[in-house]
Amino acid sequence: MNIACFSTKSYDRQSFDRILPEFGHSFSYFEAKLDIHTVSLAEGHEAICTFVNDHIDAAIVKKLKQLGIKLIALRCAGYNQVDLDAAETNKLKIVRVPAYSPEAVAEHAIALILTLARKTHKAYNRVRENNFSLEGLTGVNIHGKTIGVIGTGAIGRAFCRIAKGFGCKVIAYDIYENEEMKQLGVTYLPLNEVLSSSHIISLHCPLTPETHHLINATTIKHMQDGVALINTSRGALIETKAAIKALKNKKIGYFGIDVYEQEENIFFKNLSEEIMQDEQIARLMTFPNVLVTGHQAFLTKEALAQISQTTLTNITAFENGEELVNEVKAS
Ligand code: NAD
Repeated sequence: MNIACFSTKSYDRQSFDRILPEFGHSFSYFEAKLDIHTVSLAEGHEAICTFVNDHIDAAIVKKLKQLGIKLIALRCAGYNQVDLDAAETNKLKIVRVPAYSPEAVAEHAIALILTLARKTHKAYNRVRENNFSLEGLTGVNIHGKTIGVIGTGAIGRAFCRIAKGFGCKVIAYDIYENEEMKQLGVTYLPLNEVLSSSHIISLHCPLTPETHHLINATTIKHMQDGVALINTSRGALIETKAAIKALKNKKIGYFGIDVYEQEENIFFKNLSEEIMQDEQIARLMTFPNVLVTGHQAFLTKEALAQISQTTLTNITAFENGEELVNEVKAS
């Protein structure tokens, strides 16, 4: 099949090109994000391949249909960026990569926790200036702390296993409880109890209408003073304004995010020569106890290899009229 690939970075191209000959599909790589101005690049292709910030709303679905696109191959797990109803109405199939490397994201969440807890982000800069003073670098142990996990799907479960290895008490909230996690010693509690009992809270649920701004001024009030809040899932799970207020009044003790509510116009770009227009991210960067990474939790060699393998397998299954095991449907 001929596939138009949007939001392409060099690492995407490398991992797809490595195995494309095995599958026999043809990829046109576009650096441009998919939007109403760039959608015409899909002309002459049968499918598109997109990533997390390629918003596929009803207008884009309609245009894709007019251009003869039959399949949307998401090279990511989340699909909150797609108007599923519009896709179904226009008979466009959607496939995704449900679990390319849950460990990649879980390990990144742990990296955020350890960096903030032990201030290695500060130590790194300090020693590079031959400043070996330890003043201000006192950290906290992770061992023995209570970690609250919101969402125990593939990533949340990988995260729980690591947290258990650290000797943490792990409590969780999910709309479905998982037996394997219970066997591991994870205790499921109502959301408010998880929020109020945890020293560290890590978000691993998808962004849905129910989870939008799950962390807001009211839910933050339930949390312990000095709580650590970690988000590697989707930015809009957290109301950024409320998080900034809680950082200012020290309710949040440290804040590690790989995703940001307004990341769409910022992340995946080099803006080092530009004036930052987003006031909230600019404010977040001023806190010494905030660590922001630009949606890189998925970015490991292992995960990229799995993403390209599953995406191309999904496309081949569609081409052959086989069952689409990774299809996303409107509920
Ligand atoms: P998954 O589908 O395996 O698990 C999601 C879990 O969340 C499920 O157990 C589900 O029951 C639970 N859930 C759904 N609604 C809930 C709610 N209202 N409250 C609590 N729990 C709820 O997904 P996953 O592979 O573990 O991925 C989780 C999320 O991580 C994805 O939706 C995506 O947004 C994000 N993600 C981020 C990156 C990154 O690079 N930062 C990479 C991959 C995925």
